[in-house]
Amino acid sequence: MTKELLAENEKMVNYLINTGILKTPKIIEAFRKIPRHFFVPGEFIEHAYDDIPLPTYAGQTISQPYTIAFMTEQLEPKSGEKILEIGSGSGYQAALLGFCVAPKGKVITIELEKELVEFAKKNLKKVNIKNVEVIQDDGKLGYSKEAPYDKTIITAAAAKVPEKVIEQLKVGGRLVAPVNSGFAQKMMVIDKISNKEFKERNLGSFIFVPLR
Ligand code: SAH
Repeated sequence: MTKELLAENEKMVNYLINTGILKTPKIIEAFRKIPRHFFVPGEFIEHAYDDIPLPTYAGQTISQPYTIAFMTEQLEPKSGEKILEIGSGSGYQAALLGFCVAPKGKVITIELEKELVEFAKKNLKKVNIKNVEVIQDDGKLGYSKEAPYDKTIITAAAAKVPEKVIEQLKVGGRLVAPVNSGFAQKMMVIDKISNKEFKERNLGSFIFVPLR
């Protein structure tokens, strides 16, 4: 079983490389070393490598591999960085980022639902990722205790990026977040040029669960 699943992970990674989404060697290595089947509920394990979102708990989802690969590439995680994630879910996105910023960097990930906080923690242990801290809180407030952050990723959709989250990003830092636009969300990449100046790019339509 495990061997077959690992072979399927390899196929998924190759598919993401061939579509041109995965490019950066360190990110590709992260996808290879952190198999997605450790992050889906048992009953969906056979579908762990389909390019679709899957249910987790509390009516939430683990994002589609394509979306996770796309957002990770846009975030450009580098060794030593401190990254804030809002919406831990399964912990998969956080694990990939943790791998990329190791050994000195770390990831703080915030999740509203207790059940998912436990799920993410358990999954991170399975893949032996130790530089990710999962915190139960409202991510709209960011997490001031560890601020400022080199990078921030939001994995649930809102009408706009919460003010506090922008405040807690370093000057020179980058934020990747889905922002509501009509019936879907536009993927925004926001570079913080100074405390007042931002460079924003819209990278197209995606679908996300709402930030509550
Ligand atoms: N990054 C996740 C996917 C998360 S889906 C993964 O890799 O699996 C979005 C998550 O955001 C859900 O788990 C949802 O419970 C959480 N969420 C929604 N609103 C939130 C809020 N205000 N603060 C923190 N988490 C929130």
